[in-house]
Amino acid sequence: MVETADIVVVGGGCIGAAIALHLAEKNAGKIILLEQKSLAHGASGKGIGIIRTHYTHPVLAELAQLSLESYHDFAERYGGYDAGFHPCGYYILVGEDDRQTLKDLVKLHRSLGIEVDLVDLDRLQDAIPALNLTDVAIAAYEPNSGYGSPPQTTIALARRAQDLGVDVRTDTPVREIKLDAEGRIERVITPSGEIATRTVVDCVGPWAKQFTEHLGLDFPVAPVVEHVVVVERPQEFSQPHPVVSDLVNLCYSRSDADQPYTRIGNSNPQLHSQFKLDNADDFHGQLFPHITEELTQKLLHRYPILKSGKIVDNYSGIWAITPDYQPIIDRIEQVPGLYCAVGFSGHGYKLSPVIGKLVSQLIVGETNTLVGKLKIFRRSRFAENKLIRSQLSYSKAQGLR
Ligand SMILES: Cc1cc2nc3c(=O)[nH]c(=O)nc-3n(C[C@H](O)[C@H](O)[C@H](O)COP(=O)(O)OP(=O)(O)OC[C@H]3O[C@@H](n4cnc5c(N)ncnc54)[C@H](O)[C@@H]3O)c2cc1C
Repeated sequence: MVETADIVVVGGGCIGAAIALHLAEKNAGKIILLEQKSLAHGASGKGIGIIRTHYTHPVLAELAQLSLESYHDFAERYGGYDAGFHPCGYYILVGEDDRQTLKDLVKLHRSLGIEVDLVDLDRLQDAIPALNLTDVAIAAYEPNSGYGSPPQTTIALARRAQDLGVDVRTDTPVREIKLDAEGRIERVITPSGEIATRTVVDCVGPWAKQFTEHLGLDFPVAPVVEHVVVVERPQEFSQPHPVVSDLVNLCYSRSDADQPYTRIGNSNPQLHSQFKLDNADDFHGQLFPHITEELTQKLLHRYPILKSGKIVDNYSGIWAITPDYQPIIDRIEQVPGLYCAVGFSGHGYKLSPVIGKLVSQLIVGETNTLVGKLKIFRRSRFAENKLIRSQLSYSKAQGLR
């Protein structure tokens, strides 16, 4: 007899796990989460995990603020599981070109209820004496932001989903979605058998392009390799430091909680075209030439004291980029029963709790103002040539901020 499910969620990253969990909280029926390899096999396994609200688009800032609140209450909210969240504070540093943008954004964010303020550079220097601020014109601070552990969070969300009855299956790739004569979803095909279902939620992240190609659907989602350099701080700078978003040199960094390490990643969108892969299956942890050296130089520029530190690791992960760097969250009209939440670029980890909640509401047919705001992430925006653009934007960071 063919197995059945009310909803099949495909992809065991933080987004798929969060959606499955919130569906279970809504008693949405029998839910199966299928992951091709292991939980957090994709982007969620390697993310740096920064959780902040600083976005130029008000909808993203609002979603990020709601997610940040969930991270503060994570264990209480999600059955006692821990996301590894450290609210160590978050600084945004900008140069002269972006002075007014940062001021305007702080005003906008405060009007949205976000706790953020401009910070005097002398005070910032006192807070982090090791920071080189010579090229920084102005800075802002979010005291409640910080970072968490994306793999730990993904597993926590999946465990909580299991506790609530979700059947979580790893090593189970979905090879195909079969439609009935009317074009509605009928079943999914996996190597271990078929599952009859009317609803599939596509959360396959960097695999989005190939996943639904057989249905004739175009998902403009490119898999891109994202690099990380890890430096061990010298003894005289062994204390953890806050997260720093460096929009002068287009990079971000944070310290670890349990060892004197600082991690740095790239936020220069100009570099992404070099790091694109044709297919997410081509990712095997490769490092592209020059980028780790460039990141190291940026880190040493911002923290000259790290010249006496030691590089302890260089690694890469894969993330999913769309033409405007914003996700595609939608109910797909052409294939009744298909929903998607893919293409989160550098936003997916921090947003996963709120996306889980809102997409589950979309699927069960709940309407509210926030679910309505998901419309800006519709898939058709690319064909309509209505990419998401912010009224306020930084000179170089594009949709990453
Ligand atoms: C180095 C790095 C740094 C980052 N830093 C940050 C940060 O500071 N803050 C932040 O918010 N975000 C950050 N991100 C981005 C964040 O990690 C992603 O946006 C987020 O993890 C996306 O989650 P996802 O669930 O959409 O995708 P993924 O985690 O990629 O999950 C997709 C899953 O689908 C599975 N899958 C694919 N095809 C199939 C199939 N056919 N059948 C079954 N399963 C399938 C894959 O195996 C994978 O596990 C970073 C990412 C990287 C790589």
